[in-house]
Amino acid sequence: MLVLVINSGSSSIKYQVRDTETHEVLTKGLIEEIGSGEVKDHAEGLEIIAGRLDEALGGRTVDAAGHRVVHGGERFSEPVLIDNEIIRAIERLAPLAPLHNPAHALGIRALVKTWPDLPQVAVFDTAFHRTMPEHAWRYAVPDDWYRKYGMRKYGFHGTSHDFVTGRAAEFLGVPREELNAVIAHLGNGASATAIREGRSIDTSMGYTPLAGLVMGTRSGDVDPSVVTAARRHIPGLSSADDLDRVLNHESGLKAIAGTNDMRRIVEKAEQGDRGARLAIEMASYRLAGYIGAYHVAVGGARALVFTAGIGENSAPFRQAVVERLGALGITLDESANAERSDETRRISGPDSAIDVLVVPTDEEAAIAEATEAVLTAR
Ligand code: ADP
Repeated sequence: MLVLVINSGSSSIKYQVRDTETHEVLTKGLIEEIGSGEVKDHAEGLEIIAGRLDEALGGRTVDAAGHRVVHGGERFSEPVLIDNEIIRAIERLAPLAPLHNPAHALGIRALVKTWPDLPQVAVFDTAFHRTMPEHAWRYAVPDDWYRKYGMRKYGFHGTSHDFVTGRAAEFLGVPREELNAVIAHLGNGASATAIREGRSIDTSMGYTPLAGLVMGTRSGDVDPSVVTAARRHIPGLSSADDLDRVLNHESGLKAIAGTNDMRRIVEKAEQGDRGARLAIEMASYRLAGYIGAYHVAVGGARALVFTAGIGENSAPFRQAVVERLGALGITLDESANAERSDETRRISGPDSAIDVLVVPTDEEAAIAEATEAVLTAR
């Protein structure tokens, strides 16, 4: 099946065409500056994409579209076939994902206009975490905060955690529903997920993707009083928008090391830069803490899995994390860790208590597979 995978943002549309049989990417691209540049709106963007696909696919046509949707709220626990009611439901979740969900809905509506008969599927970033138990997703705040405003842990990166869980089970030769693991998705955004019997039972991101690990430009966990005190005391931080901006875009590795690119941070640390060293120590310490907690939560993980930009590519960062896991009996095979490869591989030492794996993630492949699965189950 040929699936057009769409990631529609407020001013951009990223797309790929995937063949779900051969796993090939037939073509991909990006339309940018929608609204501010030459492309008037999402509908015009999709017409441009339609023209490009006609050229690139040599007479073949796409069978379906799969959309990445950031927020599925409490309703969506799996991918769904899109109709008008689903589009409205995605829009109604806008208060939870104001930058993303309205933009996804624009992309979906534009696609209906360009290809009225093409089946469309929504694949939600939050859906995989709908299996978390309430004691993991509730915050200990007044009940109304949850009931009236939906303030609870949702978790994100679900499509990636789900995909990587499946690949890790395959690699280890265990049925997925028997796999207990901790997955560390470490990109610019980063999250750890506790996998028990193949499903998510806890994850480090929360109500928004700001919680948990130290990320590229996001703070991850801080005492909430830091936020209220910043608002009280720091000039220029009087509004919620200001605080959102600083905590999401000016914090994390960037705040400590001066850059959020892990390659640069490792280089600077090797040259003795104090901020860069501290950033690696902080990020690896925070992650090791989550790994310990989730090892307990899943009743003993069988594997620790690294994925995404940093997880797949930064041997020094993986080493910094695993060095902190001695109490769990986890060790690294340093030469396996140093090898570069695009394949799933084991990097733990022969004496390690559990397997440590590197599994390349592929969210577009996961969206294409999920889209096919929804359409074949119809
Ligand atoms: P996103 O969350 O934007 O999808 P990615 O998963 O692509 O992010 O990860 C991006 C991050 O991966 C970059 O910020 C960079 O720090 C890191 N990265 C990419 N390649 C390497 C590499 N070879 N070595 C170390 N870090 C890398």
